[in-house]
Amino acid sequence: MGASDALTATLSSSAEVGHFIAGQAVASRSGRRQPVYNPATGEVARQVALGSAEEVNTAVAAAVAAFEGWADTPPIRRARVLFKFLELMNQHRDTLAALITAEHGKVVTDAQGEVSRGIDIIEFACGIPQLLKGDYTEQVSTGIDNWTLRQPLGVVAGITPFNFPVMVPCWMFPIAIAAGNCFVLKPSERDPSPSLFMAELLKQAGLPDGVFNVVQGDKLAVDTLLTHADVKAISFVGSTPIAQYIYETGAHHGKRVQALGGAKNHMVVMPDADLEQTVDALIGAGYGSAGERCMAISVAVAVGDVADKLVPALAARARALKVKNGMEPDAEMGPIVTKQALDRIEGYIGLGVEEGATLVVDGRGLQVPGHEGGFFTGGTLFDHVTPEMRIYREEIFGPVLVVVRVPDFAAAVTLVNAHEYGNGVACFTSDGHVAREFARRIQVGMVGINVPIPVPMAWHGFGGWKKSLFGDMHAYGEEGVRFYTKQKSVMQRWPASIAKGAEFVMPTAK
Ligand code: NAD
Repeated sequence: MGASDALTATLSSSAEVGHFIAGQAVASRSGRRQPVYNPATGEVARQVALGSAEEVNTAVAAAVAAFEGWADTPPIRRARVLFKFLELMNQHRDTLAALITAEHGKVVTDAQGEVSRGIDIIEFACGIPQLLKGDYTEQVSTGIDNWTLRQPLGVVAGITPFNFPVMVPCWMFPIAIAAGNCFVLKPSERDPSPSLFMAELLKQAGLPDGVFNVVQGDKLAVDTLLTHADVKAISFVGSTPIAQYIYETGAHHGKRVQALGGAKNHMVVMPDADLEQTVDALIGAGYGSAGERCMAISVAVAVGDVADKLVPALAARARALKVKNGMEPDAEMGPIVTKQALDRIEGYIGLGVEEGATLVVDGRGLQVPGHEGGFFTGGTLFDHVTPEMRIYREEIFGPVLVVVRVPDFAAAVTLVNAHEYGNGVACFTSDGHVAREFARRIQVGMVGINVPIPVPMAWHGFGGWKKSLFGDMHAYGEEGVRFYTKQKSVMQRWPASIAKGAEFVMPTAK
């Protein structure tokens, strides 16, 4: 069955979304499953299998079996498979985007952007022969050469969140497999279908069976991967409590772990910022993808008197947002992923009112005609939010933008630096010195100067600071190549002279 046929079958049936193991789509054996919704209608679209320990073990065994042959395949030949995969991803870009919207809810143009950002990483991974080149020093000591090389780890696993079902897996597996590893992906159970679609495309691209596997599931599947002796590394992206759990448990079981967590991203608005550009940026970054982005801006830090102009302009735009089924071409914001998430977000809005913040725009209870069962909420805006409030401290992960007023630039920097999250941040200003100082002094991993969502490009790597990332290395880019490989140093001598006998002192260069 071709990838498009597979997609049609997935979308048109209420059948189960199963696993992909050893090059084959595999139905659930455990019988555990849960519903996948169409968030725009609130209807159950299909069921997803929840993998058992035995199913995870089967996938890991398939990956182990494939590893030796794949790791031995010259990097240029591995890259050729990725070039073919890249071509197929480009060919099916819109279909994949529609699949994302159907299960996640985000507007389809945004989903197309997501697929493009995933494709960027595949393009980067196609350069793996160059990326794997080692270092060489001739004559480190007389008659001795030393070089370093990087070798794959073995079987590595990725555990991914619901909010980017294509892009976030693409932060991981293209680089991991290009580097010679075999991969087991455990996607979010809320939007599981794109992972199977990509597995089909990898197979069509000529990837040997077992190199890429997908096991659907929940905590049971994750815990099996975390404790499995044959899994050498775990890449995780999701919420902070789970990221910390993954980091600690994986490390306890001797694995290399990178665990990217949640966020509360600030945008500092200086009084000299271009107001129109700032409002455009805040509306897109605060309400785009219904705020369900780890790089969404959820706090506007208004410096000096700028809030008096900013808040009315934001309010007018938030009220005018076109919130509808993400499949409609003019939709600006789609539904929330699940009813549970919707209740959590609207619960936070109630909490903000109780905490004494000024509710300027209330998005709660939004009804979209023809989609009465959909999980919709409108854009919400709070003003006069203070750092003690839970709506400021906690990640809401929805279309709720809060404004905190501060007297000056120094107070803005102190506020941002005191927050426990440090994923992304932005500063809007027309003063180069302020911009430079901001970039230097801010304690956050990804910084935008007049750029609201500074997601680094494929070759720069992605990662936050503080509770937004557990581990040492960022995702993708050269950090990604390092994460999925281990360094080996080789020292070589071919003695021409007579052996001098054993040496008991630390050798030094002679
Ligand atoms: P989540 O933490 O609920 O789930 C992420 C993954 O962990 C899923 O695959 C899920 O099945 C698994 N999981 C959930 N509970 C688990 C448990 N108790 N034990 C083991 N595994 C478990 O996150 P989500 O709701 O899917 O995604 C949204 C979150 O992800 C937000 O906090 C967002 O900020 C974060 N996120 C961060 C980044 C980043 O790069 N830092 C990127 C995207 C999303």
